[in-house]
Amino acid sequence: MTTEPATALPAAVAAALRDLPAPACAYLYDTTTLRERAATLRAALPPRTTILYAVKANGHPAVVATLADATDGLDVASGGELRLALDAGARRIAFSGPAKTDTELAAAVHAGALLNVESAHELRRLAGLGLHADICLRVNRAGPALSGSHTMTGTPTPFGIADDQLGDVLADLPPGLRVIGFHLHAVSNNLDGHAHAAFLTDAIGWSQTKAQEYGLDLRVVNAGGGFGVDYRTDSAMDLTPLSTVTVPPGIDLVVEPGRWLTADAGWYTAEVLDLKTTHGRTFAVLRGGTHHFRLPAAWGYSHPFTVLPVDHWDRPYPRPAVTDTPVDAVGELCTPRDVLTRDRHVTHLRAGDRLVFARTGAYGYDISHHDFLRHDPPDFVIL
Ligand SMILES: *Cc1c(COP(=O)(O)O)cnc(C)c1O
Repeated sequence: MTTEPATALPAAVAAALRDLPAPACAYLYDTTTLRERAATLRAALPPRTTILYAVKANGHPAVVATLADATDGLDVASGGELRLALDAGARRIAFSGPAKTDTELAAAVHAGALLNVESAHELRRLAGLGLHADICLRVNRAGPALSGSHTMTGTPTPFGIADDQLGDVLADLPPGLRVIGFHLHAVSNNLDGHAHAAFLTDAIGWSQTKAQEYGLDLRVVNAGGGFGVDYRTDSAMDLTPLSTVTVPPGIDLVVEPGRWLTADAGWYTAEVLDLKTTHGRTFAVLRGGTHHFRLPAAWGYSHPFTVLPVDHWDRPYPRPAVTDTPVDAVGELCTPRDVLTRDRHVTHLRAGDRLVFARTGAYGYDISHHDFLRHDPPDFVIL
């Protein structure tokens, strides 16, 4: 059973969630927190570092617009995200992703986005479209990578060009394309600040060596995102070690955090519709669930919640309630896998109270439905 406290609810958040009409089911995003996160990150990073917010963590237009303003620009990975970034007035846009369509390649170049090209084939497609651009190459470096929830490099993945193929790719570079840097996004949810600082330093050194080896004019070293948040303990990656990184003059070190900027700016609330004990387990059945907030199911952990008590009860029949007991927070979908939290101790919980899941501003609603990464939906063919 887990008893660790969830983050205390800020008063303004609690008030707004309490005001929701019943049955409550909502995400709340706080733009003040977003701006504070961006400022804190900026202060922790060395000079000559560019912050591009990775839109896939949270593509709500209000979040994207706030962070387009509070950071240097946006990192996008689809035509849909590119449109969001342009609508948000981003000053600078980087475009990554191993599955870009011809339409997306052309739109990115025309919008002035800096492409992170992920394969030799993608280079030829760009040239075949008659597009001329300065680009970065996304590289999957061999060797031990950072640890985190998802590892993109140092292991076989669809992302980027294997470093042992870099020479061949550069020797065969189609005309009209100029390589000005490398993109080395390596990990998601790294919690070790010292390791991340070492990774940034190593990314710069490796890029300088490769630029020299292949005669490139190196201007951009994009080290990607991966700044982590620990959902179980309330902590996050310590940024302090990042200030020790030295960025040489003439080089623009780019970081692309998504999770770290947005996780703490979001709260998901869901009202307890029913409360019952079945074969010894107590279930709080919610107006909501994993179709809105998939992360706990996708990663296999219990997301902590806080109880927001709602005292009002005007029904003529008794109100279901439990005291001092572990509960499972489950959703409204008719599958036993619709579980957000298992075995969390509550001192008092009633039907009609609201559960609030803090730190749900990143990869919350955005990975829970067809808008993940803002790709176009599939067609539906009816025979
Ligand atoms: C997902 C992604 C990011 C953001 O990762 P976080 O772990 O949210 O910081 C940055 N860059 C690229 C290329 C990505 O795919």
